[in-house]
Amino acid sequence: MREYRRSLRKEATLGFVPTMGALHDGHIQLTRHAKEENDVALASVFVNPTQFSEGEDFGVYPRTLERDIELLKEANVDCVFAPNREDIYGPEGYKPVCHVEPTPFNHIYEGQIRPEFFRGIATVVTKLFNIVTPTSSYFGQKDITQCALINSLVYDLHIPVSLRFIETIRESSGLAMSSRNQYLSPEEKSVAGILYTALEAAKAVCTVQGRMHRDKVKAAVMAVLETQPMVSKVEYISVCSHKDMQELDELNIEEGGVIHSAIRVGKVRIIDNVLVGKAVEDILGSARS
Ligand code: AMP
Repeated sequence: MREYRRSLRKEATLGFVPTMGALHDGHIQLTRHAKEENDVALASVFVNPTQFSEGEDFGVYPRTLERDIELLKEANVDCVFAPNREDIYGPEGYKPVCHVEPTPFNHIYEGQIRPEFFRGIATVVTKLFNIVTPTSSYFGQKDITQCALINSLVYDLHIPVSLRFIETIRESSGLAMSSRNQYLSPEEKSVAGILYTALEAAKAVCTVQGRMHRDKVKAAVMAVLETQPMVSKVEYISVCSHKDMQELDELNIEEGGVIHSAIRVGKVRIIDNVLVGKAVEDILGSARS
């Protein structure tokens, strides 16, 4: 990877899209932006073991590298970096001394439910940035907490990369595309768009009213989710600031914020979010397509 990087013209700009593979149109959209806005587009495919908790789906996470490479070729991506575990974490049995610990993120919903998740992400993204040394890097709004985390990571550790956050790509039902959607049965898939419908319904009320207490926002989301019996669990509904993902008492249009939620449809976990008010321009800015 380093040799490839050195082989590029010194002034060439490189747009980088980190992924865990099992690619879909959401990932491809990120690579389109990377290609349009840079001389060279590069994607990585690495199923990062440290962002899976005990009992999560690391072992069965879909791995489709050959197909991924084909899709990336079709999307005119110039280079694919597909390291193995040893490349990133050292030889079998090696215990790394250093990692990146984004402590406040462990206390927000997603971090409480999946301990080590954000530390795993912050650490692997730092490693990838150090290896690839991109000019810009592209992330999806779908993982909004990840966007806020990477923003802080780059700022706090002075990493010389510009960040671009790209709007979520959805199925026609509204369901956010995700590699994990493969776990849904056809029937589950046909109803899983309910999460986006519910988030949009709450956003619509807030947009009309201008401001809304978080309990009312959550109730508006819940009211829609309760209409679908295949929603087996609502893990959380969170109303938070898009800047640091800390909970807000009130959502208002001028300041902006995020409504995000994780639910289970059958056994499959679906996460999604909508940006409200000023958060849209703050997060998506000129990257909006
Ligand atoms: P993953 O392979 O799930 O780690 O995702 C790699 C990148 O693609 C992350 O920045 C995700 O936020 C982004 N991504 C995943 N799904 C979507 C989607 N439906 N729309 C836009 N970006 C996405």
